[in-house]
Amino acid sequence: MDKTDIIVIGAGPVGLFTVFEAGLLGLNCTLIDNLDRPGGQCAELYPEKPIYDIPGVPFQTGQEHVNALLKQIEPFEYDLYLDQRVDSLNQIKDGDDDYWEVITTENKKFISKNIFIAAGAGSFEPRRPPNIDNPDQYINKGVSYAVRSVDQYKDKNIFIFGGGDSALDWTVELSKKAKSVSLVHRRDAFRGAQHTEEMMRELVKNGKVNLLTPYLIDSIKGNGKVEGVSLKNFESNEIESHDADELIFLFGLNKKLGPLLEWNLELNGKKISVNTENFQTNKEGIFAVGDINDYPGKMDLILSGFHETTLAVQEAYKRINPGERVPFGYTTSNSKLQEKLGVKK
Ligand SMILES: Cc1cc2nc3c(=O)[nH]c(=O)nc-3n(C[C@H](O)[C@H](O)[C@H](O)COP(=O)(O)OP(=O)(O)OC[C@H]3O[C@@H](n4cnc5c(N)ncnc54)[C@H](O)[C@@H]3O)c2cc1C
Repeated sequence: MDKTDIIVIGAGPVGLFTVFEAGLLGLNCTLIDNLDRPGGQCAELYPEKPIYDIPGVPFQTGQEHVNALLKQIEPFEYDLYLDQRVDSLNQIKDGDDDYWEVITTENKKFISKNIFIAAGAGSFEPRRPPNIDNPDQYINKGVSYAVRSVDQYKDKNIFIFGGGDSALDWTVELSKKAKSVSLVHRRDAFRGAQHTEEMMRELVKNGKVNLLTPYLIDSIKGNGKVEGVSLKNFESNEIESHDADELIFLFGLNKKLGPLLEWNLELNGKKISVNTENFQTNKEGIFAVGDINDYPGKMDLILSGFHETTLAVQEAYKRINPGERVPFGYTTSNSKLQEKLGVKK
């Protein structure tokens, strides 16, 4: 099994910047995130909201910030594993050396001397439809909680559930490809962008979208795969059955600390206690950086996480190269970065 210099749990802004700081010292990283794309809260919760407090960057949206970080780490070596949560963390021995092994929900194993927990407020998990027993039995068989490939919905009868931006955006977008699109929401008021709601209502007027309010899902019909859906009308309490190929539940995300709480790390509430010299936890080789950590004066800001991971990477270097001085230099004279960027001297 491959060993990496640093395993980073969480590909939010702080996890991404860890790759940069590690790269400057010639260390490689493996990043793992539960979501289907990097960027953590910036990409998932506020891609279009402006951020004004990144030093030297007067204005960036959440997504622009993530894009800039991805660009910044391009010169460096890293692997990114998405759609899987790190579930367990175990100490293992290889000869005389101690390592940490992480195992993901996809049953992938990774080994490193240094684990950086950059898990923010925990892993984001999609909210399941209420009162449906085990909807996940139909995952990849007609039930989804995010749209990963638009082509999957071509010429299908789709039901989209939700009342926020994602539900509105995908209703508009998928109406171009699907055989039919029904948007189901428990009231006739939406929380998404007004402009998109207007587009959706225009599509309803033109018969391209079927708007079903106030409705709630009652049950999923299927045999191995989704074949239909029953909906309950909130006002009349009547149940209606519809044929359906795909059900997309866009009820938002829950944050779950989940497995992190079971790793015997010293916690303060739901955050991991660290020392501020190197952001190591009570276990050697396990660091916590960004929103997930706690120390006196902690602020949940992106720039705090950047500082924390910069110092933590120094300690990780020392653990990999015992007795060696950590090389220090400004990025302008960092040979590894200059080499990767192809800068000629
Ligand atoms: C609405 C809003 C506006 C904000 N505006 C600003 C702002 O203007 N300026 C500012 O500085 N900060 C702002 N913040 C705060 C900022 O977003 C956070 O400080 C920052 O995202 C923390 O980065 P992070 O990398 O530590 O964690 P996150 O961004 O939370 O990323 C953590 C990642 O770890 C993943 N993860 C967690 N557990 C696991 C696991 N077990 N396995 C795999 N993956 C896991 C999660 O899925 C997530 O992608 C804002 C926050 C919100 C909610």
